[in-house]
Amino acid sequence: MIHSLRFRLLLAFALVILVVVGAIYFFVSQTTQVEVRRYGERSEQARFGRVAFELYRYYREHGSWEGIQTDVEQWGSLYGRRIILTDSNGVVVADSRGELLGQQYHPSTPGMRFPPPWEGSSVGTFYISPEPSAGFPSPLSLSQAIDRFLLWGALLAAAVAFLITYFLSRRISAPVKALTLAARQLGQGDLSQRVQSKEKGEIGELAQAFNAMAENLERSEQLRRNMIADTAHELRTPLSNLRGYLEAIRDGVVRPNRDAIRSLDEEANLLSRLVDDLQELSLAEASELKLNYQMEDINKLIKQTIAVRQVQAAAKEVLISADLPRKLPPVSIDSRRISQVLLNLIDNAITHTPQGGIITVAARKLDNWLEISVEDSGEGIPAEDLPFVFERFYRVDKSRARATGGAGLGLAITKSLVEAHNGKIAVESELGKGSRFSFTIPVSQ
Ligand code: ADP
Repeated sequence: MIHSLRFRLLLAFALVILVVVGAIYFFVSQTTQVEVRRYGERSEQARFGRVAFELYRYYREHGSWEGIQTDVEQWGSLYGRRIILTDSNGVVVADSRGELLGQQYHPSTPGMRFPPPWEGSSVGTFYISPEPSAGFPSPLSLSQAIDRFLLWGALLAAAVAFLITYFLSRRISAPVKALTLAARQLGQGDLSQRVQSKEKGEIGELAQAFNAMAENLERSEQLRRNMIADTAHELRTPLSNLRGYLEAIRDGVVRPNRDAIRSLDEEANLLSRLVDDLQELSLAEASELKLNYQMEDINKLIKQTIAVRQVQAAAKEVLISADLPRKLPPVSIDSRRISQVLLNLIDNAITHTPQGGIITVAARKLDNWLEISVEDSGEGIPAEDLPFVFERFYRVDKSRARATGGAGLGLAITKSLVEAHNGKIAVESELGKGSRFSFTIPVSQ
């Protein structure tokens, strides 16, 4: 729970909310308090000045304080303050509350003398209570009210923000949860697991990457199953042939003469070639082939390889020629593997080219690549088969293939070997006109 993404998001958001709301509350409350106090002081001064002015005018007009009590009571209730006026002897002549009239006044706050000392002798002093009468707002109560209002506002904002965070954190953590669940099920072997995610950004990318991974896993698993099924299927034919011969010999139907033994040997050879091919392919596909890289002159390698198959081609009355530039940069390759690639391509070309045909092996430099091609004037490959010829066990003419001895592994191995050299292999073909297989290998810098 403490380590869950959602809890951490919630905690982080809550902290940010608290800090932000707390800081806003603190600063706003401080500023309003200062402003309210300043405003209170200013209006206090204005009030004081106004009462002083009115009182003094009254005295000037009437020449005495007689009848001032009603005015003082009015001002007292108007301003919400207690106003006390004394004569020059300190005897109260007016009290807005009417309590101290005629009594000697002992002020607790400084008053204001009429007229000011520099204009003559005193005619009276007046006092305004600093605190407002009951029921009148004071600056203090005002700032307390604002503070209370702010506090509630802050609490409400924090609560709303927290609620939003609660739902947001669920929204953010939900796809991660879904991914975890899918990954767990994938781990338990359910390779059909995919996550539905409308998310964009990192989580969306993660979901896409997960789906791509799951798809790859599913495809590899399917390939593995097919591979086992295909392998079993390919092994079954020569094995059942072998068993057929052996049973016939055991039952005395066939005599164990030279011919029978040669047939047995052929089937056994086929089997062992198939097993060798499979092993080679599995090593190459798992990138576990130990490649023995050396700088090689590709022209020389091509010429040597052609020479190896010249007799075989001549027997079929097919001509193999080389179309090579005078000089090509040396390349770092495993010469045994690359000549195996060439042999596979040339063998296929010989097999699929009728009498009188021509096979051309060419090489050329393309930017940082060397391209080597084997072109024949043979039967060609139907367009619908073309994309699949590099797949293992893929044969264009299923029935004829057994006769030619191929199990459909040759081009798969060839492709893996080229890719082990960081190269690419391609094919173009036109039915009835011929095929052109080409592969590239990087030129070493
Ligand atoms: P195989 O062992 O059957 O030759 P490959 O993987 O070498 O298997 O080739 C796959 C299929 O591609 C072959 O069955 C064949 O039909 C076709 N193919 C390969 N090379 C050529 C070519 N030069 N011309 C025509 N068809 C070809």
